[in-house]
Amino acid sequence: MMPGIYIHIPFCLSKCGYCDFYSVTSTEKIPRFIDSLLKEMEMYRGCFNRFDTLYLGGGTPSLLDPTQLTEIIGGAHKHFPLSSDTEITIEVNPGDLNREKAESLFKTGINRISIGVQSFDEHILSFLGRRHSSTDAISAIENVRNTGFDNMGLDLIYGIPGQDLRSWLETLHTALSFTPEHLSCYQLTIEPSTPLGIKYGAGEIVPLNENLLYEFFMKTSELLEASGYTHYEVSNFARGPEFMSRHNRKYWDHTPYLGLGPAAHSFSGNRRWWNHRCVDRYIEDVNKKMPPIEKSEILTLEQLRLEALYLGFRTKMGIDLQDFSERYAFDLLDKKNEMLNRISEEGLIIIRDNHIYPTRRGLAMSDSLSLI
Ligand code: SF4
Repeated sequence: MMPGIYIHIPFCLSKCGYCDFYSVTSTEKIPRFIDSLLKEMEMYRGCFNRFDTLYLGGGTPSLLDPTQLTEIIGGAHKHFPLSSDTEITIEVNPGDLNREKAESLFKTGINRISIGVQSFDEHILSFLGRRHSSTDAISAIENVRNTGFDNMGLDLIYGIPGQDLRSWLETLHTALSFTPEHLSCYQLTIEPSTPLGIKYGAGEIVPLNENLLYEFFMKTSELLEASGYTHYEVSNFARGPEFMSRHNRKYWDHTPYLGLGPAAHSFSGNRRWWNHRCVDRYIEDVNKKMPPIEKSEILTLEQLRLEALYLGFRTKMGIDLQDFSERYAFDLLDKKNEMLNRISEEGLIIIRDNHIYPTRRGLAMSDSLSLI
């Protein structure tokens, strides 16, 4: 697979209570950030072969106006060879997407749009601290459709304290009524440093128990597969192979990717590096003509192998045993035979055609499977 580009847009109008992504709420630095981003692109000129994905994530990329987005996408075209069918994705907040904005996004050449709906339940949205309503989400989806985007994804979150299965299934049914090409259904993770994590630490909220979370996972997978979606990764569903996220798949099989912007991570060969998690430091370094890298690490073959195992158990494509043995010098069938047979008998994996495929139950328990 060709490498991909990720661009982190580190601005949000307000912070959601559960969010651990890097972003700041003051937007006055956006012009200086864009200027630095274009300079950072220049630093990587010629370092990678052709790219076939460009992903604008954040933060809230939809806060940028069309001229700024055009400048960024134009910068990528200027500095990097991009394949003619490059998948260009933008993450959008439903609160930003009126008809005019949707039309302007379409004109920039963006061909995949991922809407952060999270829930259609107002109580849940307010618990999460989202700045948009369920009505905003519905009108954003309609605007995207009326503008002509034919690759729309909806991001949803489940497993929220106080949420019951009925409320979650209602959200899923509402999402399905718009026949999105892609659905991401993330289980809420309570990160310690977030406002939600602090409340949890103080005993003010009680997370859902493991059995209920398992039920959420299984019901989600059953419903979406019965509705024509492929459950191709633990949290991701696509209405056909052509709608699986080309960009995210690179993260799961050690395809190189270049991350630009504050806090963005990159990977190539056996090296991973990441930028400063601070927009000021990022701008400062770039303007001193220094790569704004906070740290880098070289992964050993053993580390790469463990990662490949962990990632392989999270995807429906599973693990290609021949490829695994060639890339990581490790014959899984030979060295883990007993354990693989055991989890296969337990119905967590299927070993077939020189592949290991996780079953639905296996996907639900993928973290434990990778410990074999
Ligand atoms: S809008 Fe997204 S990136 Fe911004 S705070 Fe909320 S979840 Fe985090």
